[in-house]
Amino acid sequence: MKEFTTSLLDFLFPPSCPLCGGGPEGGEAGVCPRCWEEIKGAFRGELSETAWGGALFVLAGFEGKVQEAIHLMKYRHRPSIGRVFGRYLGEALSEYPRFRDLDIVVPVPLHWKRRRGRGYNQSEGIALEVGKVLGVPVERALRRTRNTPSQTGLDAQEREENVRDAFRARRAFEGEKMLLVDDVLTTGATASECVRALLEAGTGEVVVAVVARPALS
Ligand SMILES: [Zn+2]
Repeated sequence: MKEFTTSLLDFLFPPSCPLCGGGPEGGEAGVCPRCWEEIKGAFRGELSETAWGGALFVLAGFEGKVQEAIHLMKYRHRPSIGRVFGRYLGEALSEYPRFRDLDIVVPVPLHWKRRRGRGYNQSEGIALEVGKVLGVPVERALRRTRNTPSQTGLDAQEREENVRDAFRARRAFEGEKMLLVDDVLTTGATASECVRALLEAGTGEVVVAVVARPALS
């Protein structure tokens, strides 16, 4: 409904690109093609092995227009931006053997209260497109058992404590290889808790992919 209302308003009052103020013609999700080009130019595509086990893929640094676009996606009712990021993320992942033979794509869940407040889970939108590009089914395999406060402003240890035991798998698994998808990864506290919950439920292997990560200070 929100998206419908947005399109109606866009029709009545032609919008400008929220990132540069120029005309959005030819762009996607209301963002002009020049801004998308700039965002794509910031993609680095970093693959690393995590401390909790399993590969981590980061598409871009959380800065500049990537950061602004993610902010719009999360806090300004523009879930369609997540679909575009999801497509780029899926296309990037398809180049890596480490991300083949996946059985299920799993979005990092929001607590239902926060999901209701926002109207959507941005990670789910990203995961849906990643699954579409890779040809892998998407399943909401996790739920958040506690509505944890935002991780913003917390240090690494506080983040870890904040999300400890905050996730549960919705069912049992039997050795599947899963791809966990989120929008932003900072210390990895949330992702590692999600991975733990999936492994405890019988998953064989979990690899992680995110759109962006802030530079480590
Ligand atoms: Zn623009």
